[in-house]
Amino acid sequence: MIILGVESTAHTFGIGIVTDKGKILANVKDSYTSKDAGMIPHEIAEHHEKVAEMILKEAFKTAKVKWEDIEFIAYSAGPGLDPALWKGYHIVTKWAKEHRKKLAGVNHCCAHLSIGKMWNKLKDPVYLYVSGVNTQVIIQEKNKYLVLGETLDIGLGNMLDKFGRILGLGFPSGPKIEELAKKGKYIELPYAVKGMDVSFSGLLTKAQQLVERKKSSKEDLCFSLQETAFAMCAEVAERALAHTGKKELLLVGGVGANKRFCEMLDLMCRERNAKFYKVPVDLAGDQGAMIAWEGFLRKDEVREMTINPHWRADEV
Ligand code: AMP
Ligand code: MG
Repeated sequence: MIILGVESTAHTFGIGIVTDKGKILANVKDSYTSKDAGMIPHEIAEHHEKVAEMILKEAFKTAKVKWEDIEFIAYSAGPGLDPALWKGYHIVTKWAKEHRKKLAGVNHCCAHLSIGKMWNKLKDPVYLYVSGVNTQVIIQEKNKYLVLGETLDIGLGNMLDKFGRILGLGFPSGPKIEELAKKGKYIELPYAVKGMDVSFSGLLTKAQQLVERKKSSKEDLCFSLQETAFAMCAEVAERALAHTGKKELLLVGGVGANKRFCEMLDLMCRERNAKFYKVPVDLAGDQGAMIAWEGFLRKDEVREMTINPHWRADEV
């Protein structure tokens, strides 16, 4: 069985083609970027509209398959930005009609978790899911996801992007902050862990104030912002390992591409005899392969839906 997966919850439009054995035949994407602003919703929808057919063509070419080979279309139904989700939904509905394929709406967060679990062949990890919007520590219990802890305000990626915007780094800023941080040294910033939850807004405000005071270098601020935010996530992930007794930590989501973050989590895991897992960069951020795979895993759960911008992993 071959499944086509379409991702369009935020700045990325992606198409993945995956077999029922988890072989990724194609995973093509194009992401909206902007020089000085963040994500402008209507521009994102326009971006997705513009690239959709081209990405589809490229995905079929890479996978060496045709519409006839596709069993059904999985699409990301949420959570995400309204205009991006609707645009994606309209695109897949059109394709489904034209080629007489069934549609399966899947949860984008669950897709991040499943692709990481499949890729690393894990049984029962603690998941640390860090993307633009989401920052969550999750486990699986009786086939349901359970969120043990999460951000109380903004997601880790959004926090980095907002800070990048203050520095004029363009969107997305995560990779640029990672580069600048390599040359920085530590300045103390507010560290906010509340039980199993984290909060990033105080940290962001303080970092912004330091930019305005013009006394600290960009490099030092990027380094310190990363160290503080990543240590907060590492602390709650460690507490989740301690409470559950699980021995595997899996990092997924776009911020998982950050090498320093991986290094910190790896160290924490080693110190407590657990094992740290991540996904390759092309599977860390948003893409279609994870949507196709999640679609395959849920193929027997009949779900009539359009989109759901606020759909949480623990509601699936
Ligand atoms: P996603 O929504 O899963 O595609 O993740 C997107 C988020 O990941 C954005 O907020 C990016 O800034 C962030 N991101 C991507 N690469 C990196 C990196 N190398 N370091 C930190 N954040 C990153
Ligand atoms: Mg994502």
